[in-house]
Amino acid sequence: MFDAIVVGAGLSGSTAARILAEAGYKVLVIERQKHVAGHCHDYKDNNGITVHTYGPHIFHTNNRKVWEFVCRFTEFYFYQHRVLSYVEGRFVPFPINRDTLVEIFGINIATYEVEEFLEKEVKKSKFNVPPRNFRDVVVSQVGERLYELFFKNYTKKQWGREPEELAPDVARRIPVRTNRDGRYFSDKYQGIPAEGYTKMVEKILNHPNIVLMLGIDYFEVRDLFKPKLTVYTGELDKFFDYVYGKLEYRSLKLELRTLEQEFYQPVSVVNYPNDYDWTRVTEYKHFLNEKSERTTICYEYPIEEGEPFYVVMTQDNLVKREKYLKEVEKLEKTGEFLFIGRLAEYKYYNMDQAIEAALEKITKYLTNSLRSD
Ligand code: UDP
Repeated sequence: MFDAIVVGAGLSGSTAARILAEAGYKVLVIERQKHVAGHCHDYKDNNGITVHTYGPHIFHTNNRKVWEFVCRFTEFYFYQHRVLSYVEGRFVPFPINRDTLVEIFGINIATYEVEEFLEKEVKKSKFNVPPRNFRDVVVSQVGERLYELFFKNYTKKQWGREPEELAPDVARRIPVRTNRDGRYFSDKYQGIPAEGYTKMVEKILNHPNIVLMLGIDYFEVRDLFKPKLTVYTGELDKFFDYVYGKLEYRSLKLELRTLEQEFYQPVSVVNYPNDYDWTRVTEYKHFLNEKSERTTICYEYPIEEGEPFYVVMTQDNLVKREKYLKEVEKLEKTGEFLFIGRLAEYKYYNMDQAIEAALEKITKYLTNSLRSD
């Protein structure tokens, strides 16, 4: 009955399903949760404020193809993400830029002097060259003083591990700026879906060739189907019955609160590297500039067990990942399976990267199957 089964209705699965459906495939999407959109799921709460169920999600990309794809399914509200970090009792701009240095060190420097200032900080510091871990990357860019204020304790809280145990790539997500650009991302295309991510994903899945089943565990029904293609977007280790051992996924406890006041903080996200047990506080109304006399905020506490939010980039996990990926390669070579997305590729993808991977893998699959037909 179905040419393809897509496991998971998050961004990766939905994008894959859509491209296959548009190529004429009859697609069945099976989702374990009772909702679509995976970890970018959102909903409007009693205060009329759009809440991101799994923590703050901001869409940003430099990839025009990805931007054009998502723009087919939603309008974007113009939003440029700005984050403040609560350091030494003050809210200062983060990622580090010229204005952060002015606030923290009480100095008055011009943007053209920032590079030299940071070089002096770095010269006073010890780190491995080339960088071997998270700490090395950050210290080689900003020096030990700034690393300890902004990165060290946040990273320990977020990952439950020493920054020295984490791969350099985790640190490369955060830019260091010598100018006064106070945005979190500098991508060309940025915004928040005007009616939310859930609506956007519903529209991606809304195609006559797509059937969606919610609340169904793929592993319980997989023997019922013999599709030409299975696109898997769930946890990588689970698919292979943990033969090489469990991969670690970091989870979050998200605590929502309604406050009887119009605003709680000046921006949508404030990071707390050194104080409290939460890593950040999100005030959701800022994302879409929603008006309410109340406000909804969310405290984020990283935890070890639970819904898998993040891949944990330690040496141990990355070695295991390689073993699993060899199995993936074998399966993908048969032309019957594709593994896509943050969980299935065990990769710290942003939303746009997940969509990009789905677009690329499915397009390649379709081109190859046309050739062999
Ligand atoms: N990070 C940090 N201090 C901050 C923000 C981030 O040390 O104030 C580090 C931390 O290790 C985090 C990583 O940078 O896990 C990536 O941050 P990002 O904001 O990209 O995390 P996400 O939004 O994916 O949770």
